[in-house]
Amino acid sequence: MSYDIKKILEKEEFSREDLIRLLSADEKERKLIYAKAAETKAEHVGKKVYYRGLIEFSNICGKNCYYCGIRRDNRNIRRYNLGDREILKAVEFAYNNRYASVVLQSGEIENKGFTDRIESLLKEIKRISNNELGITLSLGEQTGDVYQRWFDAGAHRYLLRIESSSPELYAKIHPDDNSHNFNRRLECLRTLKNIGYQTGTGIMVGLPYQTPEDIAGDILFMTDFEIDMVGLGPYIEHRDTPMFKPGNLLMPPAERFHLALKTIALLRIIMKDINIAAATALQAIDPMGREKALMVGANVIMPNITPGKYRDSYKLYENKPCTDEEAEDCSSCLEARIHMAGDEIGYGEWGDSKHFFRRNQK
Ligand code: SAM
Ligand code: SF4
Repeated sequence: MSYDIKKILEKEEFSREDLIRLLSADEKERKLIYAKAAETKAEHVGKKVYYRGLIEFSNICGKNCYYCGIRRDNRNIRRYNLGDREILKAVEFAYNNRYASVVLQSGEIENKGFTDRIESLLKEIKRISNNELGITLSLGEQTGDVYQRWFDAGAHRYLLRIESSSPELYAKIHPDDNSHNFNRRLECLRTLKNIGYQTGTGIMVGLPYQTPEDIAGDILFMTDFEIDMVGLGPYIEHRDTPMFKPGNLLMPPAERFHLALKTIALLRIIMKDINIAAATALQAIDPMGREKALMVGANVIMPNITPGKYRDSYKLYENKPCTDEEAEDCSSCLEARIHMAGDEIGYGEWGDSKHFFRRNQK
C-alpha cells in the first residue's frame, strides 16, 4: 500500500484521484506525506514561524452559520464588543513583544458604523506602531468599497475561509438565505485579491457530510485560485448549534485531526511558498496540535492576545484552549513549544507570503 503513496508523492502534479488516495493514507502511509511536507517547508519557506497576535474583539455576529458557537441565534452566550482602548492595549502588547503583526477578527457585521470604526482603528494601529505592525483582517463578507477603504487605511492581509468549495456542501452547513450565499463569498475572495490584499482562505476538515472528494476539491480550488495564505483546522462541534445534531455522522476527533494535518501537508507540498497558519482548533483536539502542524508544513501561528476575561465568550466550538489565560501566559508557553517542534520564531518580521510576491511578478 505505501508503495503507491510513494509513487504518487514522486509526481510533479497530483490529480484529483491522487489527492483522494493521499487523503485516505493510513497511519504508516501518512508519515511519508508528513516527511515530504517537512522537506518542502525547509526548502521553500525555511524554519521560521511568524506570529500574528489575534484579537477576537467582538462575538456579535449578524450571521447564522450552522456550525458556529457565536452564531446570531445562540442565546446561551454573553455578547461582548471590546472598546477601542482595550483593542489598542492588546495591539501595544503585540508591538512591545515584537509580534510584528496583528489579526483583527470578529463576528460579521455589515454597517457604516462598523466600517468607520475599523477604518479609524487601522489608522490608529499604524500610528502607534510607527507603521511597523502588519495587519490582517478576518471580518467576513463586505462590499468592495469597504475592503478598499480598509486596505487604504493600512490592512494588507485578509482571511476569508471559503469553508467548503463545494456549493452543495456549503448549502448543507449554512442557512438558505441571501446572507449565506456561496457565490457572494467567492466573489468577496476575488475582490480582495484584485484590491491587492494578501488573500487567505481555508476550510473546516471533518464536517458532517464532507467526503474525501470534497477535500480534494478544496485543495484544487485553493491551488487554482492561487491563494496566498491558508488557515484550516478540524471542525469541532458546539452543543448550542444546529450542526451538533448530526454529530453521529462525525469521524472521531483523532481522525479529524489527522485529516486536517494531511490537508495542511498536501497544501505545503503543492503550494510550496504560501503561508499556512496552524489553527487553534488543532489544539482543541491535541494539546500539541499546533506544533504538530508546524512539523508538517505550517509556518504561521496566531497567539491569542484577546484580554482573558472575554475569551470564554468567543467560543466557536467546545474545548477551545487557553480561554483562562492572558496574553503573557500564551507567549512564554508558545515559544517553548515552537522550539520543541524544531522551529524558530521570526520576531519583529512580517513574514509575508512569498507566494504573493511571486504571483505579482508574473
Ligand atoms: N465571522 C468571520 C467569518 O466567518 O469569516 C470571521 C470569524 S469566524 C469565527 C472564523 C472561522 O471560524 C470561520 O471561518 C470558521 O471556519 C471557523 N469556525 C466557526 N465555527 C467553527 C467550529 N465549530 N469548528 C471549527 N472552526 C469553526
Ligand atoms: Fe458569524 Fe463567522 Fe461564526 Fe459564521 S463563522 S456565525 S459569520 S462568526
